[in-house]
Amino acid sequence: MDTTRAILHVDMDAFFASVEQGDDPSLIGKPVIVGGLGRRGVVATCSYEARRFGVRSAMPTAQARQLCPDAVYLTPRMSRYAEVSAQVFAVFGEITPEVEGLSLDEAFLDVSGSRKLFGTPREMALRVKQRILEVTGLRCSVGISHNKWLAKLATELGKPDGCFEIDHGNRERLLDPLPVGRLWTVGKVGQAKLEGAGYRTVGDLRRAELDTLARVIGNQAAHLQALARGEDLRPVVARREERSISAETTFDIDLQALPEVRAWLLKLCERVTERVRRAGLKGRVVTIKLRTPPFHTETRQCTLGIESDATDIIHASAVRLLETWWREQSRPRLRLLGVSASGFDADTAPGDLFAAAADGRKDRVTDTLNQRFGSGTVRRARSLDT
Ligand SMILES: [Mg+2]
Repeated sequence: MDTTRAILHVDMDAFFASVEQGDDPSLIGKPVIVGGLGRRGVVATCSYEARRFGVRSAMPTAQARQLCPDAVYLTPRMSRYAEVSAQVFAVFGEITPEVEGLSLDEAFLDVSGSRKLFGTPREMALRVKQRILEVTGLRCSVGISHNKWLAKLATELGKPDGCFEIDHGNRERLLDPLPVGRLWTVGKVGQAKLEGAGYRTVGDLRRAELDTLARVIGNQAAHLQALARGEDLRPVVARREERSISAETTFDIDLQALPEVRAWLLKLCERVTERVRRAGLKGRVVTIKLRTPPFHTETRQCTLGIESDATDIIHASAVRLLETWWREQSRPRLRLLGVSASGFDADTAPGDLFAAAADGRKDRVTDTLNQRFGSGTVRRARSLDT
């Protein structure tokens, strides 16, 4: 029996845009761009039809509009994507319990222990693709290899609708021509250093003398050379706590007044905790994300004494984080604000609606009304109206 590890990396193709095309068949075959539509919005995902015009994710939406003015522009429907994501992850769970989610539409699967049941890694990859197509109608790309680094690279090389394998036979040929910046531990600075010393490709790094390389890049040299040889020992970590539920908003005009920022923070906390409760979870970690102009992003985080799904509790912590940050700035200005809850207890399960603690009950009634009559029906008086 083959005892080497077998890792799959799965990534949905143009996920948000594909969900939209699946839900509205009139969009099929058209350039579809999902993202922020305000003045400072960025593209979250675009369909392959839009990519032909040069549109890419993380590009300012304004730029996308210049490249592809006739595309269909949509704002993200995160709760719908979360629903489809849950279906996709349920398929992963059919193959192995060793699933490490990276985002709504991307995960590593350690399928080493599933060979007896489902066959070779390639057979399992094809099965995942087939099942996801059956259940969601959507296509994904799967990379197959014996570690995470090569599995993820295989996905990228096979996209879209890929099923590509990197093994000992083809890895040098595939790795050697890649630019050094493709190694995930090499940032812009490291890349400039390496290129300055004549190491342009992964092959250059692989063939380098370790001592010479260490003079350029220091104690990272051995690690880099291992990556260049296609080695990576990181395990697939199937931890539920890695999940987080978040909401964020980009402002058309930078916010400079604390009361206004507080109002937005409450609104975001309501959005996050509603989703936390709907998922039947309780979070222990609260994180806020702050972006100051032009593009500096910071996060601040705290851990609650006891896990919670209550808006008031999550909000109180988020406010403390915000106010501390605010005091530390000489001239506070915010372009983006985000909140997330994470650190979910794997054992938390949806409970009896009416067994909820008194302070959770109010939230649940609010959620029920909002679900029935549309989001925003019931809102705390302090949060902004938009
Ligand atoms: Mg994707």
